Amino acid sequence: MPFTAPDCPAVKGFIETSFVDWKGHLASVLFLGGCNFRCPFCHNRDLVLNPGGLEDVPIEYVVATIRKYRAQWIDNIVVTGGEPTIHMNLFGLIGLLKSEGMSIKLDTNGSNPSVVKGLFNDGLIDCIAMDVKGPLDRYSRWCGLNVNERKVRESIEFIMECGIDYHFRMTVVPFLHREEDVYTVAAELQGAKDLIIQTFRPDVTLNPAFSRIKPFSADKMTEIRANVSDIMSKGKTGEQERSPRLGTVGSEHDQENLYQ
Ligand code: SF4
Repeated sequence: MPFTAPDCPAVKGFIETSFVDWKGHLASVLFLGGCNFRCPFCHNRDLVLNPGGLEDVPIEYVVATIRKYRAQWIDNIVVTGGEPTIHMNLFGLIGLLKSEGMSIKLDTNGSNPSVVKGLFNDGLIDCIAMDVKGPLDRYSRWCGLNVNERKVRESIEFIMECGIDYHFRMTVVPFLHREEDVYTVAAELQGAKDLIIQTFRPDVTLNPAFSRIKPFSADKMTEIRANVSDIMSKGKTGEQERSPRLGTVGSEHDQENLYQ
Protein backbone atom coordinates (compact mmCIF):
# COMPACT_ATOMS: atom_id res chain seq x y z
CA MET A 1 0.00 0.00 0.00
CA PRO A 2 1.54 3.41 -0.94
CA PHE A 3 1.76 6.03 1.78
CA THR A 4 2.29 9.75 2.11
CA ALA A 5 5.04 10.63 4.58
CA PRO A 6 3.62 12.69 7.44
CA ASP A 7 5.49 15.61 9.04
CA CYS A 8 8.03 13.72 11.14
CA PRO A 9 11.56 14.16 12.52
CA ALA A 10 14.53 13.20 10.35
CA VAL A 11 15.68 9.65 10.97
CA LYS A 12 19.46 9.71 11.53
CA GLY A 13 20.12 6.01 11.92
CA PHE A 14 18.29 2.74 11.31
CA ILE A 15 19.20 -0.74 12.55
CA GLU A 16 17.02 -3.19 10.73
CA THR A 17 17.24 -6.02 13.28
CA SER A 18 18.51 -5.93 16.83
CA PHE A 19 18.36 -8.40 19.71
CA VAL A 20 19.68 -5.98 22.34
CA ASP A 21 17.63 -2.78 22.14
CA TRP A 22 14.32 -4.14 23.51
CA LYS A 23 14.81 -6.71 26.25
CA GLY A 24 13.26 -10.00 25.18
CA HIS A 25 12.29 -8.76 21.71
CA LEU A 26 13.70 -8.76 18.23
CA ALA A 27 13.24 -5.20 16.97
CA SER A 28 14.23 -2.57 14.45
CA VAL A 29 15.76 0.62 15.86
CA LEU A 30 15.28 4.23 14.69
CA PHE A 31 17.70 6.95 15.85
CA LEU A 32 16.60 10.60 16.00
CA GLY A 33 19.16 13.39 16.25
CA GLY A 34 19.69 16.00 18.94
CA CYS A 35 19.40 15.91 22.72
CA ASN A 36 18.65 18.39 25.48
CA PHE A 37 21.22 16.77 27.82
CA ARG A 38 25.01 16.71 27.51
CA CYS A 39 25.96 13.64 29.54
CA PRO A 40 29.77 13.61 29.42
CA PHE A 41 29.84 9.82 29.03
CA CYS A 42 27.35 9.76 26.12
CA HIS A 43 28.54 7.50 23.30
CA ASN A 44 26.24 9.05 20.68
CA ARG A 45 28.39 12.16 20.35
CA ASP A 46 27.71 12.98 16.69
CA LEU A 47 24.01 12.23 17.00
CA VAL A 48 23.77 14.64 19.94
CA LEU A 49 26.17 17.42 18.91
CA ASN A 50 26.00 17.38 15.13
CA PRO A 51 22.85 15.64 13.89
CA GLY A 52 22.76 17.92 10.83
CA GLY A 53 26.10 16.43 9.74
CA LEU A 54 24.59 12.92 9.59
CA GLU A 55 22.76 11.74 6.54
CA ASP A 56 18.99 11.25 6.81
CA VAL A 57 17.54 7.79 6.34
CA PRO A 58 14.51 8.32 4.07
CA ILE A 59 11.27 7.51 5.86
CA GLU A 60 10.09 5.76 2.69
CA TYR A 61 13.03 3.34 3.07
CA VAL A 62 12.21 2.77 6.75
CA VAL A 63 8.56 1.97 5.97
CA ALA A 64 9.44 -0.32 3.04
CA THR A 65 11.88 -2.20 5.29
CA ILE A 66 9.55 -2.63 8.25
CA ARG A 67 6.83 -3.84 5.87
CA LYS A 68 9.25 -6.44 4.53
CA TYR A 69 10.27 -7.59 8.02
CA ARG A 70 6.76 -7.48 9.40
CA ALA A 71 5.73 -9.96 6.72
CA GLN A 72 8.37 -12.24 8.23
CA TRP A 73 9.00 -11.88 11.94
CA ILE A 74 9.63 -8.37 13.25
CA ASP A 75 6.79 -6.18 14.43
CA ASN A 76 8.65 -4.22 17.12
CA ILE A 77 10.46 -0.95 16.73
CA VAL A 78 12.56 1.08 19.17
CA VAL A 79 12.53 4.86 18.80
CA THR A 80 15.69 6.22 20.36
CA GLY A 81 18.14 9.10 20.13
CA GLY A 82 19.58 11.41 21.10
CA GLU A 83 16.36 12.30 22.86
CA PRO A 84 13.24 11.58 20.80
CA THR A 85 10.90 13.73 22.91
CA ILE A 86 12.54 17.02 21.89
CA HIS A 87 10.92 16.68 18.46
CA MET A 88 7.50 18.29 18.27
CA ASN A 89 6.54 16.08 15.32
CA LEU A 90 7.43 12.82 17.10
CA PHE A 91 3.72 11.99 17.26
CA GLY A 92 3.59 11.95 13.43
CA LEU A 93 6.46 9.48 13.21
CA ILE A 94 5.24 7.12 15.91
CA GLY A 95 1.68 7.37 14.58
CA LEU A 96 2.98 6.28 11.18
CA LEU A 97 4.87 3.33 12.69
CA LYS A 98 1.80 2.32 14.69
CA SER A 99 -0.37 2.47 11.58
CA GLU A 100 2.09 -0.02 10.04
CA GLY A 101 1.21 -2.44 12.84
CA MET A 102 4.37 -2.00 14.89
CA SER A 103 4.69 -2.17 18.67
CA ILE A 104 6.75 0.78 19.89
CA LYS A 105 9.34 1.12 22.61
CA LEU A 106 10.34 4.70 23.40
CA ASP A 107 13.77 5.44 24.85
CA THR A 108 13.87 8.69 26.81
CA ASN A 109 15.93 10.65 29.31
CA GLY A 110 12.74 11.62 31.15
CA SER A 111 13.09 15.36 30.58
CA ASN A 112 9.71 15.79 28.85
CA PRO A 113 7.05 13.99 30.89
CA SER A 114 4.23 15.78 29.02
CA VAL A 115 5.38 14.24 25.71
CA VAL A 116 5.62 10.77 27.24
CA LYS A 117 2.15 11.17 28.76
CA GLY A 118 0.76 12.43 25.45
CA LEU A 119 2.14 9.45 23.55
CA PHE A 120 0.74 7.11 26.19
CA ASN A 121 -2.67 8.80 26.18
CA ASP A 122 -2.83 8.50 22.39
CA GLY A 123 -2.06 4.76 22.63
CA LEU A 124 1.14 5.20 20.64
CA ILE A 125 3.68 3.46 22.88
CA ASP A 126 3.88 -0.07 24.27
CA CYS A 127 7.04 0.16 26.36
CA ILE A 128 9.16 2.96 27.82
CA ALA A 129 12.85 2.75 28.72
CA MET A 130 14.13 5.66 30.76
CA ASP A 131 17.79 6.31 31.47
CA VAL A 132 18.31 7.45 35.04
CA LYS A 133 21.64 9.23 35.13
CA GLY A 134 22.35 9.26 38.85
CA PRO A 135 20.83 10.25 42.20
CA LEU A 136 18.05 12.79 41.75
CA ASP A 137 19.34 15.44 44.15
CA ARG A 138 22.38 16.27 41.95
CA TYR A 139 20.85 15.52 38.59
CA SER A 140 22.51 18.31 36.60
CA ARG A 141 25.90 16.92 37.56
CA TRP A 142 25.29 13.69 35.64
CA CYS A 143 23.73 15.38 32.61
CA GLY A 144 26.39 17.99 31.79
CA LEU A 145 24.03 20.96 32.03
CA ASN A 146 21.26 22.33 34.21
CA VAL A 147 18.35 19.94 34.22
CA ASN A 148 14.86 20.33 35.64
CA GLU A 149 15.01 17.54 38.20
CA ARG A 150 11.28 17.93 38.97
CA LYS A 151 10.43 16.84 35.40
CA VAL A 152 12.71 13.82 35.70
CA ARG A 153 10.93 12.80 38.92
CA GLU A 154 7.56 13.33 37.23
CA SER A 155 8.59 11.01 34.38
CA ILE A 156 9.75 8.32 36.81
CA GLU A 157 6.49 8.46 38.75
CA PHE A 158 4.38 8.37 35.59
CA ILE A 159 6.31 5.47 34.08
CA MET A 160 5.94 3.44 37.27
CA GLU A 161 2.20 4.05 37.42
CA CYS A 162 1.02 4.12 33.80
CA GLY A 163 0.57 0.39 33.46
CA ILE A 164 2.58 -0.34 30.31
CA ASP A 165 5.86 -2.23 30.24
CA TYR A 166 8.93 -0.22 31.22
CA HIS A 167 12.58 -0.40 32.15
CA PHE A 168 14.85 1.97 34.03
CA ARG A 169 18.52 1.89 33.07
CA MET A 170 21.64 3.41 34.55
CA THR A 171 25.10 3.54 33.00
CA VAL A 172 27.72 3.34 35.74
CA VAL A 173 30.70 5.59 35.03
CA PRO A 174 33.70 5.23 37.38
CA PHE A 175 34.94 8.59 38.73
CA LEU A 176 31.70 10.32 37.75
CA HIS A 177 29.64 8.02 39.95
CA ARG A 178 30.67 6.68 43.29
CA GLU A 179 29.48 3.17 43.95
CA GLU A 180 27.07 4.46 46.56
CA ASP A 181 25.44 6.66 43.89
CA VAL A 182 24.27 3.51 42.12
CA TYR A 183 22.68 2.24 45.33
CA THR A 184 21.07 5.63 45.95
CA VAL A 185 19.40 5.38 42.54
CA ALA A 186 18.26 1.83 43.32
CA ALA A 187 16.77 3.05 46.60
CA GLU A 188 15.06 5.97 44.84
CA LEU A 189 13.51 3.51 42.38
CA GLN A 190 12.38 1.00 45.00
CA GLY A 191 9.07 -0.46 43.93
CA ALA A 192 9.99 -0.21 40.23
CA LYS A 193 9.98 -3.34 38.10
CA ASP A 194 13.69 -3.21 37.39
CA LEU A 195 16.83 -1.12 37.10
CA ILE A 196 19.17 -2.33 34.38
CA ILE A 197 22.79 -1.52 35.24
CA GLN A 198 24.85 -0.87 32.13
CA THR A 199 28.61 -0.88 31.73
CA PHE A 200 30.16 2.40 30.57
CA ARG A 201 31.69 2.32 27.07
CA PRO A 202 34.73 4.62 26.74
CA ASP A 203 35.27 4.14 22.98
CA VAL A 204 33.48 7.38 21.98
CA THR A 205 32.43 9.92 24.60
CA LEU A 206 30.80 13.33 24.39
CA ASN A 207 33.44 14.75 26.74
CA PRO A 208 36.74 13.43 25.31
CA ALA A 209 38.26 13.27 28.82
CA PHE A 210 35.84 10.46 29.63
CA SER A 211 37.36 8.18 27.01
CA ARG A 212 40.32 7.81 29.43
CA ILE A 213 38.13 6.18 32.07
CA LYS A 214 38.30 2.43 32.40
CA PRO A 215 34.93 0.76 32.94
CA PHE A 216 34.49 -1.41 36.01
CA SER A 217 35.63 -5.00 35.66
CA ALA A 218 33.04 -7.65 34.85
CA ASP A 219 33.36 -8.96 38.44
CA LYS A 220 32.72 -5.52 39.92
CA MET A 221 29.69 -5.01 37.68
CA THR A 222 28.33 -8.39 38.78
CA GLU A 223 28.73 -7.35 42.41
CA ILE A 224 27.03 -3.99 41.80
CA ARG A 225 24.14 -5.64 39.94
CA ALA A 226 23.66 -8.11 42.78
CA ASN A 227 23.56 -5.28 45.35
CA VAL A 228 21.12 -3.30 43.20
CA SER A 229 18.88 -6.32 42.80
CA ASP A 230 18.95 -6.77 46.57
CA ILE A 231 17.93 -3.15 47.19
CA MET A 232 15.19 -3.26 44.55
CA SER A 233 13.74 -6.52 45.87
CA LYS A 234 13.61 -5.13 49.42
CA GLY A 235 11.52 -2.31 47.99
CA LYS A 236 9.09 -4.85 46.55
CA THR A 237 8.66 -6.57 49.89
CA GLY A 238 8.36 -3.26 51.78
CA GLU A 239 11.57 -3.94 53.70
CA GLN A 240 13.82 -1.00 54.58
CA GLU A 241 16.85 -0.65 52.30
CA ARG A 242 20.28 -0.93 53.92
CA SER A 243 23.48 0.25 52.26
CA PRO A 244 25.62 -2.59 50.90
CA ARG A 245 29.30 -2.79 51.73
CA LEU A 246 31.05 -0.32 49.45
CA GLY A 247 34.31 -0.72 47.59
CA THR A 248 36.59 2.14 46.62
CA VAL A 249 35.63 3.65 43.30
CA GLY A 250 36.95 7.18 43.09
CA SER A 251 37.12 10.18 45.34
CA GLU A 252 35.19 13.41 44.94
CA HIS A 253 38.53 14.94 43.93
CA ASP A 254 38.90 12.42 41.08
CA GLN A 255 35.44 13.27 39.87
CA GLU A 256 36.18 16.99 39.75
CA ASN A 257 39.34 16.42 37.68
CA LEU A 258 37.31 15.07 34.79
CA TYR A 259 35.65 18.43 34.25
CA GLN A 260 38.87 20.40 33.89
S1 SF4 B 1 23.42 9.84 27.06
FE1 SF4 B 1 22.74 11.90 27.65
S2 SF4 B 1 23.50 13.25 26.02
FE2 SF4 B 1 23.55 11.15 25.24
S3 SF4 B 1 21.63 10.85 24.17
FE3 SF4 B 1 21.33 10.10 26.27
S4 SF4 B 1 20.53 11.83 27.41
FE4 SF4 B 1 21.40 12.66 25.50
